[in-house]
Amino acid sequence: MEYLPIFIQIKNRPCLVVGGGSIAARKVALLRKAQADVTVVSPQLCAELEGLSQQGLIEHKARIFEDSDLDECVIVIAATDQHDVNQHISDLANKFSVPVNVVDNPKQGSFIMPSIIDRSPVVIAVSTGGSSPVLARLIRTRLEGSIPAAYGQLAKLVESFRDKVKAAFPDVESRRSFWEKILQGSVAEMVFTGHENDAKKMLDKAIDEQSVVPQIPGEVFLVGAGPGDPDLLTFRALRLMQQADVVVYDRLVSPAIMEMVRRDAEVVYVGKERDKHTMQQENINQLLVRLAKEGKRVLRLKGGDPFIFGRGGEEIELLAEEGVAFQVVPGITAATGCSSYAGIPLTHRDYAQSCVFVTGHLKDGSVDLNWKALAHPNQTVVFYMGLHGAPTLCKEMVAHGLPPTTPVALVEQGTTPQQRVYIATLDTLLDVIASEDIKPPTLIIVGEVVSLHEKLSWLEEHHVDNEDSVFAYKDQ
Ligand code: SAH
Repeated sequence: MEYLPIFIQIKNRPCLVVGGGSIAARKVALLRKAQADVTVVSPQLCAELEGLSQQGLIEHKARIFEDSDLDECVIVIAATDQHDVNQHISDLANKFSVPVNVVDNPKQGSFIMPSIIDRSPVVIAVSTGGSSPVLARLIRTRLEGSIPAAYGQLAKLVESFRDKVKAAFPDVESRRSFWEKILQGSVAEMVFTGHENDAKKMLDKAIDEQSVVPQIPGEVFLVGAGPGDPDLLTFRALRLMQQADVVVYDRLVSPAIMEMVRRDAEVVYVGKERDKHTMQQENINQLLVRLAKEGKRVLRLKGGDPFIFGRGGEEIELLAEEGVAFQVVPGITAATGCSSYAGIPLTHRDYAQSCVFVTGHLKDGSVDLNWKALAHPNQTVVFYMGLHGAPTLCKEMVAHGLPPTTPVALVEQGTTPQQRVYIATLDTLLDVIASEDIKPPTLIIVGEVVSLHEKLSWLEEHHVDNEDSVFAYKDQ
């Protein structure tokens, strides 16, 4: 190890920055974040530092560096653009054992500045020993994504309960095990979703009951898995996928996404194929309640967004009635996923000022929609579950005033490596469907914006010839 990572307390202590440019300004901002008293020595200041100086937030000495500037400062940052000045500051600082950082030249100083993930009081510092700041930043970005923004709040909660827990669990081992359970369970999840008071109550209860394994009630995570590409998952979805005890999923969740759920989680497939529901909706609703009441963390994973043609509402209604805790995580819905990956903007100032999502499949199997409201020239209409109703939709859209030449896109298995986009018109869509071997799921986009596909499509389609859909579909 070339450097020892340490965290220095500089609150209300004098820190010196030599140099007044934008790089110096970045260092000043960091020092101020750690609440230091900052003095900047530089004949000139950039606008940002000038502003801070005028507000009295930093002290400015408008001249070149003098040796006595080092007196009493706890750390110094040499941020001038002159190598010899930086070297002089560094030599002097080393002589007086003042930690010194030379920007853009780590070897010249005695300490380096890491890349920082700030979830105060949790702070993670990443360093590559100065060899590649870009790599450090990339690592930081990865960590940023996997550590929920509310980790700071969680740490504060732990801090405020430390003494109580210490009194309740005098022995170190049981205390450690208690915290491990708390920090990976529902208490933490409550903090992440903004239910801090409930988290405190639950923590108090766990302490009062002196339970090393606190009795944590089960809960349901209703999570949108997006249209297929695992990269389109949200950070929260991924985190909950890795925490769940049981996963209840249906055919719209792509296998690539199922690969990412916790390995030892129990997995329940509840199907839902057209007209052949593997498990009736009511049974799914009840299954979720039962599993949660057994104390399990249940991940109800749904394709796209759970609240868009996903019956998410129906599922959590019963949970609410039964007093089972739940949270809902949105996902990218098929319309936005498919339109992006097909290069078809859903709105465009020249073509469409509104966009409507409709289902082409009603509860009783019919396609009885308000066609008058849908057939508008400056509107994009996205049909979910529209393949079977395609003859009706083409006929009715024309009957209600849209030109038969209105462009239509049919997106098959959107956002997956098997994605295909077929471009037709209201007049020719049925011919395309008849002549191609269309694999579900498919989305139908109707409107002038479809004409932009030719110019804006960016995804290379591989046209992999696979027998079945990548999804667990048999029929749509
Ligand atoms: N809740 C989901 C929609 C469920 S309804 C969402 O927000 O996306 C099921 C319909 O969604 C399918 O019949 C199809 O029309 C559409 N769909 C879902 N995923 C799709 C995909 N990857 N490609 C094309 N259409 C998709």
